[in-house]
Amino acid sequence: MRVARGASIVVVAALIVLGVTLVLGTVTSSVAVVAFVLLGYLLMGVWLVAMAASARAARAVADAATTQLRSQSVELEAQQQETKSLTQELEHANAELERAIISAEGARDVAIAGEARMRLIDEASRVLASSLDYETTVAAVAKLAVPTFADWCTVDLLVDGEIKQLAVAHVDPVRARWARELNAKYPNTLDPATGVPAVIRTGEPMMISEVTDEMLAHVARDPEHLAMLRGLEIRSSMIVPMTARERTLGALMLVSTQPVRRYGDVDLSVALDLARRAALAIDNARLYRAALAANDAKTNFLATMSHELRTPLTAIIGYDELLAEGITGPVTGEQKHQLDRIRVSAMQLLAMIDEILLYVRVEAGSEAVRFEPVVAKGVVDDAVAFVAPMAAERGLTLRAEPIDAAMMLRTDAGKLRQMLVNLLSNAVKFTTRGDIVVSAFVHGHTVVFEVRDTGIGIDREDLEHIFDAFWQVEQTATRRIGGSGLGLSVTRRLAQLLGGEVTVRSEPYVGSTFRVELPASPPTPLETRSP
Ligand code: ADP
Repeated sequence: MRVARGASIVVVAALIVLGVTLVLGTVTSSVAVVAFVLLGYLLMGVWLVAMAASARAARAVADAATTQLRSQSVELEAQQQETKSLTQELEHANAELERAIISAEGARDVAIAGEARMRLIDEASRVLASSLDYETTVAAVAKLAVPTFADWCTVDLLVDGEIKQLAVAHVDPVRARWARELNAKYPNTLDPATGVPAVIRTGEPMMISEVTDEMLAHVARDPEHLAMLRGLEIRSSMIVPMTARERTLGALMLVSTQPVRRYGDVDLSVALDLARRAALAIDNARLYRAALAANDAKTNFLATMSHELRTPLTAIIGYDELLAEGITGPVTGEQKHQLDRIRVSAMQLLAMIDEILLYVRVEAGSEAVRFEPVVAKGVVDDAVAFVAPMAAERGLTLRAEPIDAAMMLRTDAGKLRQMLVNLLSNAVKFTTRGDIVVSAFVHGHTVVFEVRDTGIGIDREDLEHIFDAFWQVEQTATRRIGGSGLGLSVTRRLAQLLGGEVTVRSEPYVGSTFRVELPASPPTPLETRSP
């Protein structure tokens, strides 16, 4: 371009110079004109060549620019492509992030729901273990689920072959009343093919995530029933069997009245777990009640039987004494001896009956306690004197260690004597040789009475049971020795009644030491203890 511009300037300048020269008349000949024309052609040729070169150069430059532009556009396209794929990647990443957020939120919701369920089950375990009372347990079951898990909960149990609604809980006290009225007016029978009766009959749970009006209309027995059902605003419900020890005791119904709470499979599994625990607690309470009833029956039987035996036995002892004293006629030495044996046996029987009666009274909580100042040595001497003949008969030494005559305690002297007699009699019964020693001493705020023997001792595993009523270590030996199996049980109950305790240390074939520990001065509430 620059060349073309230079050539143009040169040609124009030359033409101007020539022109001017001609105009001025310095060159006038035809040669000069020819020369001028030739020069003009020459200069035009040079200019044209220069212009062509310039055009070529310009074209080359334009070509180069085009090429550059093309490559730039390719590059741009590539960049656009890259940007596009980056955008897509970003969009993909965004979508993934959103999915991750949703799933994290879902996981959080599941974790929160899981925690709530765990709390419910934990609470259920705690509440259900806290009582063995049947009514308390049943009521607690209904209350457990409301309001965290249900708005309305009922417990229906099979009682003597009939379905009885034993507990109702509702978030709204007015609707709780309606629910009770509903059951009173339309009680469940075992026949219907759906609802609580079907669950109890089959042992299979039932869940309706969304309860519709048609469903209510289907189960309603009459228009009033339907109106009552509608009034309870049932949205979603589950009925689960209450099964314990392979027996369906009843059914737990959980109802949601909130549109947002729709029961699903997870809720059903929680409900089943809750119902299982509740059923076990209710069954335990039922068994406990039955055991108490059986125990009461046993105690009543023992009391009645003992009283009935005691009356003729007292008569036997009375007539024996009349005969022995010769009031009804002369008695030979041999007859006197036999009458004495009758009396000893009768007295043993009487002692056993009295022990049973005492056990019955202590069990029933009707044994009165009279606290008074008691001289420890006096009670010990009394008990030793009572058991001494029995010990002498078995060739055993029975003695009391020196006891401070001034040692006093506030207790029931009769019961303390009874305990010591029981322990000393056992020591004599279960010792074949050696000594039986009784001691009493002050230990802190208590007074301790100990009975030591050198008898057969007691195995470690038997030690836990010897204080149980009617429990004896070895039936055959004990049968030979005799006894009701109530002595230690009564002794422990009496000690506890006096605010103390009985403990034992024993080694087989070495001997046993029983220890009665009583408060020297029992706290005030014990002072007034009476049936
Ligand atoms: P019982 O003496 O009428 O059988 P107890 O309740 O007094 O009933 O005692 C329960 C059991 O404890 C006895 O049968 C006996 O096996 C064991 N026992 C009690 N005292 C002793 C003792 N001093 N030595 C060994 N065993 C004993």
